[in-house]
Amino acid sequence: MVFLSIVVPCYNEEESVNLFVDEIERTLPDLDYEIIYINDGSSDNTLLNIKKIAESNPKVKYISFSRNFGKESAMYAGLKSARGDYICVMDVDLQHPPSLLPEMIGAVTVENYDVAAARRVSRAGEPKIKSFFSHLFYKMFNAVSNMQLVEGATDYRVMRRMVVDSILELSEYNRFSKGIFEWVGFDTKWIAYENIERTVGETTWSFWGLIHYSIEGIVAFTTTPLSISIVLGSVFSTASFLYMIFVILKYILYSDPIQGYTTLITSILFLGGLQLVSIGILSKYLEKTYLETKNRPVFIVKETNVDDKK
Ligand code: UDP
Ligand code: MG
Repeated sequence: MVFLSIVVPCYNEEESVNLFVDEIERTLPDLDYEIIYINDGSSDNTLLNIKKIAESNPKVKYISFSRNFGKESAMYAGLKSARGDYICVMDVDLQHPPSLLPEMIGAVTVENYDVAAARRVSRAGEPKIKSFFSHLFYKMFNAVSNMQLVEGATDYRVMRRMVVDSILELSEYNRFSKGIFEWVGFDTKWIAYENIERTVGETTWSFWGLIHYSIEGIVAFTTTPLSISIVLGSVFSTASFLYMIFVILKYILYSDPIQGYTTLITSILFLGGLQLVSIGILSKYLEKTYLETKNRPVFIVKETNVDDKK
């Protein structure tokens, strides 16, 4: 008998939490499952609604954080308390279509895959600028990292216990799940789906939020940017050394008077800029190392109805 744990992060989703439970019950009437709602410090009635559902539905569990810790922390908390042999992670806003669940569950239970993951193949209904930057992010990440992210990969996935145990072993504070899922490996079946727009509630992702998230991802999973300054530094010092010889020879042979204010000021500004960027890259890694060494918990639970079994 398959027992599935469905881990669902929620942040200000008072309307979605009810719809989600109904939709799952409709899609999987015969399956034995639990829904673990993680209330990520919502400021609306999300927790109240979840508690109401949990009172009448024993399949619904919840973990409520002391404040907003972010979706990554919420997923981690959910995975930690999931009891199932198979574990699913999905969004509560129904943008991760529950209709894919039977196929995903089939992939891990019958087809012998370790993971079934959903991949969004169309971005219809999404702002063009978001799609553009998202595409750019995948290109950049895959160019600088030796780990390859699948474009359009989402956090919507069904995994075997073994995979989740491996994910939990990565207990880092800076959690970039897309990278973590890829990093642990295992056989993955990709299931394509078309983008679905939100019906209720609002997305919490802002443009700057996405840029920040992308930088976090790159810093968390590759150290290539740290080498960029070495390469640039070598190129520029070689070039300037050659230029120096040229200038000296020109002076000796033609006794050219000193000139070139424009060259001077542009090269000073350009190199100054490059140095600041390099220091910036370095600081980003230092910041992450600093936060990691503090060893702070990834989340803090305020209340829950999950019995601590670990
Ligand atoms: N979410 C969360 N904590 C946050 C932000 C979002 O748990 O700080 C949840 C949110 O409730 C939803 C999922 O993460 O279930 C995806 O968020 P959203 O729909 O806002 O992102 P999008 O689908 O637009 O990428
Ligand atoms: Mg969404």
